Amino acid sequence: MSGCACHGKPRKTRKVRVGRFSIGGTSPISVQSMCNTDTRDVKATVDQARRLEAAGCELVRVAVPDMQAAQALGRIKGAIGIPLVADIHFDWRLAVEAVRQGADKIRINPGNIGEKDKVREVVKACKAAGVPIRVGVNAGSLRALRDNPNPRWQPHDWAKQMVKEALGEVKLLESLGFRDIVVSLKADDIERTVMANALFAMKSDVPLHIGVTEAGSFLAGTVKSSLGIGLLLSQGLGDTVRVSLTEDPVMQVRAAYEILKALGLRQYGPDLVSCPTCGRCQVNVGKVVRELEERIYSDPGLLKKSEGMKIAVMGCPVNGPGEARSADFGVAGGKGRGIWIEKGKQIKVIKESEWVNEVIRKIRGSK
Ligand code: SF4
Repeated sequence: MSGCACHGKPRKTRKVRVGRFSIGGTSPISVQSMCNTDTRDVKATVDQARRLEAAGCELVRVAVPDMQAAQALGRIKGAIGIPLVADIHFDWRLAVEAVRQGADKIRINPGNIGEKDKVREVVKACKAAGVPIRVGVNAGSLRALRDNPNPRWQPHDWAKQMVKEALGEVKLLESLGFRDIVVSLKADDIERTVMANALFAMKSDVPLHIGVTEAGSFLAGTVKSSLGIGLLLSQGLGDTVRVSLTEDPVMQVRAAYEILKALGLRQYGPDLVSCPTCGRCQVNVGKVVRELEERIYSDPGLLKKSEGMKIAVMGCPVNGPGEARSADFGVAGGKGRGIWIEKGKQIKVIKESEWVNEVIRKIRGSK
């Protein structure tokens, strides 16, 4: 992974291959998400996975609750261009079938596949196919909670238990000669998530998939995830990112990239600046910005071309042109029209209804 602009000292991790993709080592920090469709509904899952791919998602995970879902994986994988991750709980046979269907990575929870012999079967299948395993530890489903459902633990006790269970599973996999492992340690709050990841990182070189689990609604979850993931990244921790939001997974991808972009770790589309509007505004800045985002973030070509561009959408001619000066190009509103500005120069006047198309044309013709 590359270092964060704030601290710049990335943790050294082993490199794990996921299809033609890799996590850890010197790989860029990747962005992943999970479909919320019924995996047995191949069309719906493929449609969503493709939307995620168009938005820049680099690995897509799907739930595999039963054999029918496992058997659907081959058709899903054949219809998408990014690695497919199978999320498995309890049944080792689902993991083996997922690998047989061409899944690029398997996610399991510590202990919930059962006895060592069952884990051995999963490892055997993964090893033969070159498929890595993510050990996903969630605070809410720790094995220790089965014996003690209401522990009086402080955050550091939770973190220690999470790390203990993650390391236990890593040790089990390694004892079976398997090293292609990624670990995640997630809680629904920042304190336990950050503590657990920091503690794990002191004890292992296994790459970390980071995120705050069940982070919440779009606004609350994005704030919580940005802080949690941001704190980890600023300490050099994290090899792949998933933002969990109760929201369209495409928004999870966008939020993850915005976090990485804000820390100078990845580039992703333009820097789209817009004013908050006030009583001087006589155009619909919000609508223009939403339409622009929709167009840019669903088109890989536009996303790529607009990378690193600063585009301004301002509401009025009083402050707009001044504030748009530092942008590569943009528009400052009047009444139903606006001044088109490039590198601080006022070029022309265009109708409000043409703003979005003009920005898109400009991006397309730019490189
Ligand atoms: S750019 Fe104009 S409309 Fe927008 S907030 Fe500033 S003064 Fe108000």
